[in-house]
Amino acid sequence: MSGNIFCITLAVSGRSICRNCNKYIEKKTLRIGKDIPNPCDDNDEGWGDVTLWYHPACMFKEFDQEKAKERKIKAPEDLFGFKELKQGEKDTILGFINDANMKREDNSLCQFRSLCTRISEEKSGAGKTAVVSDYLKNGNSGTGFKGDVHMLMKWLLPGVVKTSFNLDDKLLVKLFSQIFGTNQKAMEEDLDQGDVSRTVKVCFEKSKNVTPLKESMVSLREINGLLTSLSQSTTEEGMLKMLSKIIKRCTSDDLMMVVRVIKHDLGINAKEKHLLNGLHPNAYQAFQISEDLKHVVKRVQANTLESMPGLKEKKTGNGDSDDSDSMDDLKKTPVKRPAGDEGLTTSAKKSKPECKTAPAASPSNVSANIFTGCKIFLPENTDSFKELKQYIIDFDGEVLSEASKRSATHIVSSKGKMSTASGKVKVVTPDWLWHSIKKKQLASTEEYKP
Ligand SMILES: [Zn+2]
Repeated sequence: MSGNIFCITLAVSGRSICRNCNKYIEKKTLRIGKDIPNPCDDNDEGWGDVTLWYHPACMFKEFDQEKAKERKIKAPEDLFGFKELKQGEKDTILGFINDANMKREDNSLCQFRSLCTRISEEKSGAGKTAVVSDYLKNGNSGTGFKGDVHMLMKWLLPGVVKTSFNLDDKLLVKLFSQIFGTNQKAMEEDLDQGDVSRTVKVCFEKSKNVTPLKESMVSLREINGLLTSLSQSTTEEGMLKMLSKIIKRCTSDDLMMVVRVIKHDLGINAKEKHLLNGLHPNAYQAFQISEDLKHVVKRVQANTLESMPGLKEKKTGNGDSDDSDSMDDLKKTPVKRPAGDEGLTTSAKKSKPECKTAPAASPSNVSANIFTGCKIFLPENTDSFKELKQYIIDFDGEVLSEASKRSATHIVSSKGKMSTASGKVKVVTPDWLWHSIKKKQLASTEEYKP
């Protein structure tokens, strides 16, 4: 069978059972066989292979669940018996193969890295949004993104959808130096130049103990699984084991990206807002409300994001858009833009003077970034909670949940109820919010202490 482990034939009897869906494969319909070493041959006595049977569609579904290194049907030549099929059958199988290949590409760490490069090359927020949006629309092949959208967005937002690792730079260097067989001191010195992910990459390439893969082949899902196990390791021994597993699946560039994910910083210089809005113009707002990325992705895919409770309707039609980085701006933004003004979009710059002369703020007719950089904890029992929350989000602020209260810059507390917060955090009354919204600039917190 010239090294092929896959074959395709018509089912002779109708008695074989598909290993994926556990249903019988009908007589005289196509089935794909996969040869595996006989699992009963414990002593390696050369019992030969056994064939597992699948419905063709089920076979390709199975590939999605398998590790990247498992053998797969990537071309018709991988499938013994393909040439004997009728033309219509060939077309069906070729369709499966093409789809699977595109899916694999769109789910790969390799393509994710190149997406990150494209995002980081865009200077403006709107430009970054456009890159994400374009990728989700077209995928790597240009014919549509076939990968797992939630997984991709999760990878793009390691600082937001956080997996915590018990690893700081020092421990990373210590563990990697053991795996690479590199002098820990030398690695630490290299680290002094700033970027642990680069240090790890360089030392991986020079390592005598381990060799980076030449070609990137791992999927986001597979590394994600390994990272989850890594995050659950509490001992150095456990972490060492997981990092060694990860390394075996990586090129040196792959590993650099993995370290960046562990550090919760992809180095692409993009705000979560700009990345999320590549998914949908309202995705950032929706995420702020639900704090559940999976839920937001589900709604986007089901086309029900607009009807999410608490989501303010956005006009995406013409000029009166309320958000400097919204659809309108996007439409005018080609994916490739010449390097331009750091951070600011053209429309954000233009809109600023307009804001000063605009009538009383209302989220539907004004674009202002009153609360930029503010992380505000707003207790749910505050009067007009929903409305205030919406205003804060509309005006570029962040509303924190009870759980993340500790990273707040401002804590809203109604009169009489003194918060126990200390340090740099400012405790303010709801009136501080109302006043800031009305004046379209941050009011002095001194005047609004509870
Ligand atoms: Zn099946």
